[in-house]
Parts: sequence; C-alpha cells; structure tokens
Amino acid sequence: MQTTDSRIEPGTLPTEEQFREEALAFLSANAEKRPPDKVEWGVGSDSVELFADKTPEQELEDLENSRAWRMKSFDAGFGWITGPTQYGGRGLPNSYQAIYNSLESNYKVPSQGPFGIGLGMVAPTILAHATESVKTKYLRSMYRGDIVGCQLFSEPSSGSDLASLQTKAERDGDEWIINGQKVWTSGAQFSDIGEIICRTDPTLPKHKGLTGFVVDMKAPGVEVRPLRQMTGGASFNEVFFNNVRVPNEYLLGDVNQGWTVALTTLMNERAAIGGSGAGIIGVNKTFELLMQLGSICSQDPIARQQIADLYIHMKASHFTSMRAMAKVKAGQLPGPEMSLGKLSLTNNLQRIGNFVSHVLGPKLIADTGEWGTYSWASLLLGTPGIRVAGGTDEVMKNIIGERVLGLPKEPKPAVDRI
Ligand SMILES: Cc1cc2nc3c(=O)[nH]c(=O)nc-3n(C[C@H](O)[C@H](O)[C@H](O)COP(=O)(O)OP(=O)(O)OC[C@H]3O[C@@H](n4cnc5c(N)ncnc54)[C@H](O)[C@@H]3O)c2cc1C
Repeated sequence: MQTTDSRIEPGTLPTEEQFREEALAFLSANAEKRPPDKVEWGVGSDSVELFADKTPEQELEDLENSRAWRMKSFDAGFGWITGPTQYGGRGLPNSYQAIYNSLESNYKVPSQGPFGIGLGMVAPTILAHATESVKTKYLRSMYRGDIVGCQLFSEPSSGSDLASLQTKAERDGDEWIINGQKVWTSGAQFSDIGEIICRTDPTLPKHKGLTGFVVDMKAPGVEVRPLRQMTGGASFNEVFFNNVRVPNEYLLGDVNQGWTVALTTLMNERAAIGGSGAGIIGVNKTFELLMQLGSICSQDPIARQQIADLYIHMKASHFTSMRAMAKVKAGQLPGPEMSLGKLSLTNNLQRIGNFVSHVLGPKLIADTGEWGTYSWASLLLGTPGIRVAGGTDEVMKNIIGERVLGLPKEPKPAVDRI
C-alpha cells in the first residue's frame, strides 16, 4: 500500500475536512478514478442481472479482489470508520462514513458484495450481543476482510415464521452441540463463521426458547451444499449441522433470548435491502437503459404510459430510500420505512418486468443476439428472489399495515408453542 502524508495519527480525532483530505489522498494513491457514468444504448455490456451467474472459480476470484481492497482500505483506516477502537474501528461519527462512501463512489474499486451479509448483518449483531472474547476475536478480522460471515436463520419449514425453527442446540459442559438443517444461506460456500439461531428449550413458547451463537463454518459436522437458482448461479446453500460443537463463550446474548438477537440482525437486513432500492434499480445503469428503451418505443401509447409510470415510481422509491438511509446515518434505528423501501423496490421490479415484456415480446425469451433485449430476462428471473429475500412482500405489507397504518394485528394461533 502506498502511504500518504495526510494520514492522521491514530488516537486523534480529525476534523471532517482533514478526514476528507486523508481519504482523497488514500483513494487517489490506490485506485483509478471512475469515468463519468454514461450509458449509451447499444454500447458496452447490456447486463442488468440481479443475481450473478458465476462459476465457483469466478466467485472465489471476485472474493479475493474484494478482500484485497477491503484489507488495503482497512489498514489505511477506512475499513470500519464508525467502529469502536477497542475492536479495530476508527471510532468516528457516522458523518465520516458518509464522506468516505461519497468519495469512494468516484473511484473504480472492487464490489464488496461477498462481505455484504457479514458486515451488514452479522458483525453488528456480534457487536451488540457477543461476549468480549468473541468480539475481540472476530470483529477486526471481519471488517479487515480476513474472514467472511453468513446468516443461518431460515430452515425448510421456517422462513417468514422464523420463530418456529427446529435446529436444536443442547448444552454439554462448556460446549453446545448443534443438530439440524438451515437453508437459503447466502454465501455459506465461502464463509468462515455464521450467526445461527437454534432452539434451546422446546418447552417454552416459540419466541422464548431460542438462542443465538456464532458458529465456525469449518468445524467438523458442518456440511454446505449449494442450491442452483433459475438465474443460473448458486449463491445460496443448504447447511447441515451434525453434532457440531460450539464453545459456551460463542453465545450471542443470553440463553433463550435468541429472538432479541435475531431481531437485531433482521433490522439491519431490512436496512440493507430497503435502503438499497436506489442502488439496485434507482439512478443507475438499469434506470438509464430503461429510459432509453422507453424513448425507442415512444410511439406506442401503452409503452409510453408504462415508462412514465416507471419513472415516477422509481424516482419516488429512490427518494424514499434516501430518506430512510439518512435516518440510519443519523444514528436512528431503521423502522418500517425499510419495509416500505423494500416493497417499493419489488413493486418497481415487477413494473419493469411488465414494461419489457410488452415492448420486447418474444425477444425476451429467445436470444436473438440483439443488444439490450434478451439480457432483461435475467432481471425478470431474479425478481421473485428479491421479493422473498429478507422478508416477503406479504410480510412487508403486514408490517406496514400494523406499524404504519395502525391496522389490527394478524390473528395468532391460540397456543403459541412449536
Ligand atoms: C435470494 C435469497 C437469499 C436468501 N438468503 C438467506 C440467508 O442468507 N440466510 C437465511 O437465513 N435466509 C435467507 N433467505 C431465506 C429468506 O429469508 C426466506 O426465504 C424468507 O424469509 C421466506 O421464507 P420461506 O422461503 O420459508 O417462505 P414462507 O415463509 O413459507 O412463505 C411462503 C409464502 O407464504 C406467504 N406468507 C408467509 N407468512 C405470511 C403471513 N403471515 N401473511 C401473509 N403471507 C404470508 C409468503 O409471503 C410467501 O408468499 C434467502 C432467500 C432468498 C430468496
């Protein structure tokens, strides 16, 4: 790594202006400036995929590229800007992270996708609920990119109704023994640790007999099997636990208090997906290509109506995401805005599907080789996955109905036991 003169001594709090200069010096010494985004119909790649179709070798190569950048930026003081200093963070306010993100977006740096779940959901939960030794052992390594984390929540019969999960953990001296199966675990194929929620007391009501743990994904008895998606790739997995031993100090929170731990993770998950509406289909290449496709078929009154509708909804969704993210950046807890953000994202994906189906017709399902046509099929095929991941559309509607509109709660079964 090249060093820079403007690096602030550790332990001192730079002003925002000093920090900006330090970050700019680091970025300009270590990354190439991104040319201004200009999307031109028929030029370059026409990919608008939501889920990448990669071989395991390509996945590993991407992981190593992401890791190399993560390590470099962490070692220069930009890998965990807001984190507590005792665990490897820089201890600076959220506004400094916003400054860095905005500067970094002007440079060509590898995508940090492989670290998204670990840093977006698992690490904040470890920080909030893990023992001191686990925080010390894992947080710095996670933010530096030495290790990757995954989220082991869903099971074959427990997704939306997460509290009904069956994977069990039984105490054995200073250890716990885990048996059961998780499913849809994104990134488990290259993860080093996972956050798992297990049933530790089946006699308690279902939300009360759960406990969270950090589990070593390389431990004996952990088996990861990839699941192939209809978009081609296999980015998520089934994970089997067969007598997997976890030390007691790897507990997250207290025994039988796992529901609180899970909620910490789920709030961060919704913040990540809900707030990403702008990133996935907001003011980016997909948006530009849609608008250009709209102008190509502007003589068709139905297409014209659809593209105007899309423009309005995508802009509204973008500004809603920005408002929600501003709340998070200001240190406030993500609330039902995140559910609104996620639902408007998936509604817009469906609007895009309707529009491209109308204007492209058969070219959407048979590859004619024509630029900007068949490529939209991958967006259509990826949309159901986004509608389900991180809480389905129906679950988001329940949250909005109950917490935003004040509608009566859903009826619950009389006996809330598993
Ligand atoms: C791309 C992707 C990545 C994922 N990554 C992970 C991961 O890394 N880790 C992890 O643990 N899980 C992951 N998941 C799993 C995801 O969290 C679950 O799929 C999701 O919570 C839904 O659960 P389910 O699939 O069991 O569907 P179910 O809960 O069985 O739902 C089936 C249908 O019933 C509807 N439904 C369920 N409950 C209600 C209700 N109360 N009211 C109205 N309708 C209802 C749903 O909306 C849905 O249409 C991922 C999923 C996807 C698609």
